[in-house]
Amino acid sequence: MTTIFSKIINKEIKADIVYEDSESIAFVDINGQAPVHILIIPKREISSLNTIKESDKELLGHLLFVANKIAKKFNISESGYRIVCNCNDDGGQSVYHLHFHLLGGRKLSWPPG
Ligand code: 5GP
Repeated sequence: MTTIFSKIINKEIKADIVYEDSESIAFVDINGQAPVHILIIPKREISSLNTIKESDKELLGHLLFVANKIAKKFNISESGYRIVCNCNDDGGQSVYHLHFHLLGGRKLSWPPG
């Protein structure tokens, strides 16, 4: 399914892109919930964690590796951060293009609401 994130990947709409490579792109969330709130997404159209395939395993690892790099770039590796992947309705997913939220720069509460 094509979403607004495909338009960001294709540079049809603007985003504050903080990282990009052949497989992935990362940009600042338009509605940030923390001082650092970055979305890390695959360029491949995958609608959610529910629809990943065996062949996506390497890509998923790559996205987490990218998260590690971005956390370093934004100086939150030591203070700490959270990776969130919302899936479907109860998970709070609103954009059906797989993405990891990288949140940091403040103390995050637990459990999530
Ligand atoms: P979800 O709720 O699906 O886990 O997360 C989707 C996220 O995408 C939300 O945090 C929302 O603020 C963000 N978002 C939605 N549309 C846009 C957009 O056009 N640009 C950017 N940068 N973020 C967006």
